Amino acid sequence: MNLDDTLYSLNCFDMMKSKLLASELKIKTVKDLLEYYPYKHVEQIKIDSLSDISPKYVGSVIIITGVLKAIDIVTTSKKKKYLQGILLSSSQKQLQLIWFKRLDSIIKLYQSNCTYTISGELSVFKDKYTIVHPTIIKNDSPVILSFYSLTDKLKKRGINDTFLRQMYQKVFELDIDIPENIPQELCFKYKLMSRYEAFKEIHIPSSSKTLSLAKRRLKFEELFLMQYKMYKSKLSYSNSIGYVMSDVSLVKRFYEHLPFQLTNAQKRVIKEIYHDMMSGHRMNRLLQGDVGSGKTIVAFISMLVAISNGYQVAMMVPTEVLAEQHYKKISELSKQFDITTVLLTGSTTSSQRNQISEFLYSGIINIIIGTHALLNDSLQYKKLGLVIIDEQHKFGVTQRAKLSAINGSLQPHTLIMTATPIPRTLAMTMYVEYDISTIDELPNGRKQIKTVHFYESNRLRMFGFVQQQLDLGHQVYFVYPLIDESDKINIKNLMDGYEAISRAFPGMAISIVHGAMNPKDKDFEMNRFSVGETKIMIATTVIEVGIDVPNATVMVIENADRFGLAQLHQLRGRVGRGSNESYCILMTDMKLSKQSRERINAMVKYSDGFTISNIDMKLRGAGDIMGEAQSGYVNLKIADINEDYEMMKVIKEEIKKITQY
Ligand code: ADP
Ligand code: MG
Repeated sequence: MNLDDTLYSLNCFDMMKSKLLASELKIKTVKDLLEYYPYKHVEQIKIDSLSDISPKYVGSVIIITGVLKAIDIVTTSKKKKYLQGILLSSSQKQLQLIWFKRLDSIIKLYQSNCTYTISGELSVFKDKYTIVHPTIIKNDSPVILSFYSLTDKLKKRGINDTFLRQMYQKVFELDIDIPENIPQELCFKYKLMSRYEAFKEIHIPSSSKTLSLAKRRLKFEELFLMQYKMYKSKLSYSNSIGYVMSDVSLVKRFYEHLPFQLTNAQKRVIKEIYHDMMSGHRMNRLLQGDVGSGKTIVAFISMLVAISNGYQVAMMVPTEVLAEQHYKKISELSKQFDITTVLLTGSTTSSQRNQISEFLYSGIINIIIGTHALLNDSLQYKKLGLVIIDEQHKFGVTQRAKLSAINGSLQPHTLIMTATPIPRTLAMTMYVEYDISTIDELPNGRKQIKTVHFYESNRLRMFGFVQQQLDLGHQVYFVYPLIDESDKINIKNLMDGYEAISRAFPGMAISIVHGAMNPKDKDFEMNRFSVGETKIMIATTVIEVGIDVPNATVMVIENADRFGLAQLHQLRGRVGRGSNESYCILMTDMKLSKQSRERINAMVKYSDGFTISNIDMKLRGAGDIMGEAQSGYVNLKIADINEDYEMMKVIKEEIKKITQY
């Protein structure tokens, strides 16, 4: 019998139960079953004598042995029946046993004057120590009970905790082959329990000590396998050959006319990127840096490296507005050079597109900036050497891969950028195949955005403040939460907000943007706001990404308690992009949940993205954050990236030794 055998072949489960386990819990093989770990264990307390029972055990599950003196049916004054038994010990102390259900079958199970070992939760009923619905314990029954998360459907069909416990017992009575899957010397060095024993102990623990050893072994195994896979794929990436780009003549020229002094963090990541690009290996790098930390100029300098060496660059961004913004900025930065930059989006006409296609193929174009439109198969490059993806979290894994897979035998260097900072450990596991560069410093003189929390009752005061800012010629965002972009109720919310704001600021030109609008209209409205035609932008979170309107100084977030922390921080980053003092106003009702209040407080108190994301991780747990970032890489069953961080570090070192990485 081995781990890949199906459950059905074990002869422990009938066909119906095997199918249910497969459909409800994705348990198909013996391995799946063994890796379906209990979500909790409860230790039953063995009490030697009834005279030892005391109030401190009330609420605990106890195991106790005694002689059953009598067992009788009791009828209450309301004509209800229950079964009452008395367990006696030599000290003449008594324990009451009570059953409310299945009286007929239970009465047959017990005989007076026989000795029983029973277990159950100790309670007090009619002033007597009592166990309701005790279970009879056999000699070899486990002292620690495992509990599993099970669906209602499973429970209805008889697959409950008791059933599963019996199944695990049966499985371990069979002769299963459970091979080791981590190197022997590590098992030895870290005194790890064998895999066979660990599986057995996690389901059928013999003591709390062995249980914790089992947990340790299984966590070690899980983290080891995860990290080993990570290193292998990383190795295969860094082993892949890449274009050698060692000429930096354009970069040198650019450094003579820098628009501003680079921060130390920017200099550091530029070095890291340059090192990759000239190494002969293909670069696969994630650049993370808080909103406003200056990733664009870093991207531009890496473009210059590629162009100096005769290669073309493609930059992909998630929205048309952002593409246009980057196009303008990059054209501006490169005006002193003989560099041809083009823009390609869904709005590009087909004749323009054909022209671009031709110039790209002949090599006239150095830089192409665009949206998803870049993924169109008909585009052919002369010599694509660098791919940059901005706000990469808005793209799926396959989209990222597709752009890099474009043409040629060698794959281009790839730089992906994100403004959603995540703690380093998490980043390591989420972006397995990427090296990570971090800009952890904002340019000098950047003003902090003043963040305040207003209750609904202060709405008029908030409007008054917004009016002042509008009078100064500044622009303002109002953002509404939309859980589901097509949700009609939420759109109504937005429209109600729009009406209230129009009334509060008569005569002001207002833009409105939400996810249910078609992309053209959306981009049109965003553009009107970004050129200053409209002064107020009312939007859902569609504006969260990248948009840069330096004249906007106020971000009002309505129902701020309904946003996640990362999202709030992203939204706040839309202001404070110019030289003017900027503000973020978080609007909420008086009544807030504890978690919402903590989020709001964190926003008011901290402005640094890494601090915010650390708090976010503490509040929500790592799993949630990873889920949100659509990673899909890691699905840990027993280990916890936060809790087991130390173990992860140890394993990382060991893997380095093994792989000589
Ligand atoms: P993000 O990292 O959010 O993409 P940007 O690249 O858009 O940030 O930069 C934000 C603003 O800061 C831009 O206006 C940019 O010109 C400016 N900037 C970038 N680096 C520096 C620096 N070292 N000193 C001063 N201003 C900078
Ligand atoms: Mg940016």
